[in-house]
Amino acid sequence: MTSPSQKYLSTRGGSYGLSFEEVVLKGLAPDGGLFIPEQIPELPKHWESKWQNLSFAELAFEILSLYISTSEIPSSDLKDIIDRSYATFRAPETTPLVTLDEKNNLYLLELFHGPTFAFKDVALQTLGNLFEYFLVRRNKGKTGTDRHHLSVVGATSGDTGSAAIYGLRGKKDVSVFILFPKGRVSPIQEAQMTTVLDANVHCLAVEGFFDDCQDTVKALFADPEINEKLNLGAVNSINWARILAQITYYFHSYFSLKKSTTYKEGHKVRFVVPTGNFGDILAGYFAKRMGLPAEKLVIATNENDILDRFWKTGHYEKKAVHGVEAQGGIAADGAKAHEDGVKETLSPAMDILVSSNFERLLWFLAYEYAADAGMDDEWNKKQAGQEVESWLKELKSKGGFGVNEDILKYAKRDFESERVSDSQTVETIKEFYTAGPKGSYILDPHSAIGVAASKRSISRNSPADTHHISLATAHPAKFANAVDMSLKSEQGYSFDSILPKEFVGLESKERKIINVAKDAGWEGVRKIVQEEVEAELKGAR
Ligand SMILES: *Cc1c(COP(=O)(O)O)cnc(C)c1O
Repeated sequence: MTSPSQKYLSTRGGSYGLSFEEVVLKGLAPDGGLFIPEQIPELPKHWESKWQNLSFAELAFEILSLYISTSEIPSSDLKDIIDRSYATFRAPETTPLVTLDEKNNLYLLELFHGPTFAFKDVALQTLGNLFEYFLVRRNKGKTGTDRHHLSVVGATSGDTGSAAIYGLRGKKDVSVFILFPKGRVSPIQEAQMTTVLDANVHCLAVEGFFDDCQDTVKALFADPEINEKLNLGAVNSINWARILAQITYYFHSYFSLKKSTTYKEGHKVRFVVPTGNFGDILAGYFAKRMGLPAEKLVIATNENDILDRFWKTGHYEKKAVHGVEAQGGIAADGAKAHEDGVKETLSPAMDILVSSNFERLLWFLAYEYAADAGMDDEWNKKQAGQEVESWLKELKSKGGFGVNEDILKYAKRDFESERVSDSQTVETIKEFYTAGPKGSYILDPHSAIGVAASKRSISRNSPADTHHISLATAHPAKFANAVDMSLKSEQGYSFDSILPKEFVGLESKERKIINVAKDAGWEGVRKIVQEEVEAELKGAR
């Protein structure tokens, strides 16, 4: 197979022809857009027979090779990066597919066997190694201030932070700064992040909510001063490498499913994905567009349901103004709503107001619409960029925008959506603990949202010829609060019995943490970042 020369562009039309390395190191495009590949690669001939028995790492190599030119990363180097990234996983299959409900052909794709017990490890182990690879190459033979140093800055509601820290700890020429909302991540998540004592890891506890952390990060990326002094790198799912690395498990689980006894040729496969920032499911979209025979991708949101409302109405609005459901104050199903509209739910990793990666899908929808008009490809791409730019402007100035019928039709061709409330989440955790058809299974609240949505999809699509793969995004021990709330009155349940040995004693270990003063603002955070990087570089010299 000849290697493609894959290039990248910005969803807002400001840049074209970028290399994979530029895209990974920059994270966000200078025009505010996100990077996407200029072409979605096609699968090689006979991919099914060629790939069906590959290990996870081998499959990842085949898929990543379609998006990264060998002139950028030679094959042997890419192989090595991938092998090291998945060597840290506890499960031999990396992402095992387990049967949750045989009668209904419902399977759970367990994505939480990496170092921090959530699906984000799949991508962040790879991203950490990619950062290191590019920096080592740039810094060959260089010493002192000549060395290229990357300062990774990210906001987290819990899972991204720990996964990024475990992906980057101890790596040369990289500092990592993680902003988290003080007191609003789970105790295990906070312990996972702050007990990593490596000199290049810095956890910043911020007064406020996740969105405040995210706004600060965005302000830093937009600031020329810090950009001139420090090279900022992104680990949030705006980084293209994260989406790319996640494509692998859609293929891997498809092959696992095909080996199951209940799967027959011609059966349909649906993927159901607990969704927040739209990064996980977007990887499924790329897999489908590449040619993976997935009948539908089902978006499962919690009560922060901007995506669900979009698929039902064609309007992408921060606040629910176009029907579906009234919001404000305490919502009907119990989750607390903040002033800006984000609700605190039992599945905090999905508590978002807007989904950043949705912009990437919007580009492809706008591109398809432009292509229908039959102009040349360059024109179609330009149109798509302009359309995305104007939608995002409207989102910013008016809090939302609507798309036309055709665009919504394209969106519905590949996706369906479901919204799952907190009470339905609790019910689902209970149901599969007490009456799991395959015996007891303890779902984490995010995975439970996927399973609740799967059950609805199963009720509309006969399980006789449709298989559902529901993505399990975290280990239940990470979200003790919701799991305990659901199961505390169940016979024989004890939280300690599900606690992985890696978590035992974690909360009493030594911590390293920087408290950000309430009125520090993003400039205050900028100062902290600059000082810490300086101190680190001094220490290293
Ligand atoms: C991040 C996360 C999600 C949401 O994934 P997106 O890519 O943001 O849609 C779901 N579940 C868990 C446990 C997560 O950590």
